[in-house]
Amino acid sequence: MEHIAENLQKIHLDIGSICEKIGRDPSTVHLIAVSKTKPGQLVREAFNAGQADIGESYVQEFLEKHASGDLSGLPVRWHFIGHLQSNKVKDIVGKVSLIHGIDKTGTAKELSKRAGRLGITSEYLIEVNTSGESTKFGLAPEELCKQAPLFFELPGIRLRGLMTIASPDRQQARQEFRLLADLLERLREIAPVPDDLTELSMGMSQDYDIAIEEGATMIRIGTAIFGARNRKMP
Ligand SMILES: *Cc1c(COP(=O)(O)O)cnc(C)c1O
Repeated sequence: MEHIAENLQKIHLDIGSICEKIGRDPSTVHLIAVSKTKPGQLVREAFNAGQADIGESYVQEFLEKHASGDLSGLPVRWHFIGHLQSNKVKDIVGKVSLIHGIDKTGTAKELSKRAGRLGITSEYLIEVNTSGESTKFGLAPEELCKQAPLFFELPGIRLRGLMTIASPDRQQARQEFRLLADLLERLREIAPVPDDLTELSMGMSQDYDIAIEEGATMIRIGTAIFGARNRKMP
């Protein structure tokens, strides 16, 4: 038995006290509840507790939950937080409010094309590999500003900021969050519409306190809301 409403409340209290300590307005930190591997029923429970922003990492699982009867009629704001491959763009375009995991111009190009066909504007973040670990997805930090103009010129999509997954080590995580915040500043200097670039999606159950201290505007929390995941990831 997971105590989802209680867990959410605890996290909101925690966000409040972290923000108070550093003099930040807590309404600038948006909580995304990550429900991967968890059933739609639990997502519904979170939604009923006031949590409308929900994150999913896998296309197939997202599509199943998106269509599931457990959630029908609920205005969930879906966030696709997994790494998005170009050939999967068509499956999720128009169904999610923000895509966090784009790290290639080719994928952004495909999103631009698909959004254009639907006559919508798709919002997205670029994932940056701030830890440099080869097992992680994300654009290399030194590539970001180089490739940014290619992203900026695409119609039908709107870049809103950056996303990263930090190292498990908290000291290192802080450096990586700082790097992401710094990269967003640099990106704003060369962006045609700097005001669009406001989002830093960083911080998970283990490190969201540090992420908030370093400027996160979106924290992605799974375990601390829904409990441990026991199903193995694909
Ligand atoms: C699973 C996942 C999370 C949530 O992780 P927890 O440690 O369970 O809070 C956040 N972001 C991404 C990209 C994820 O895949």
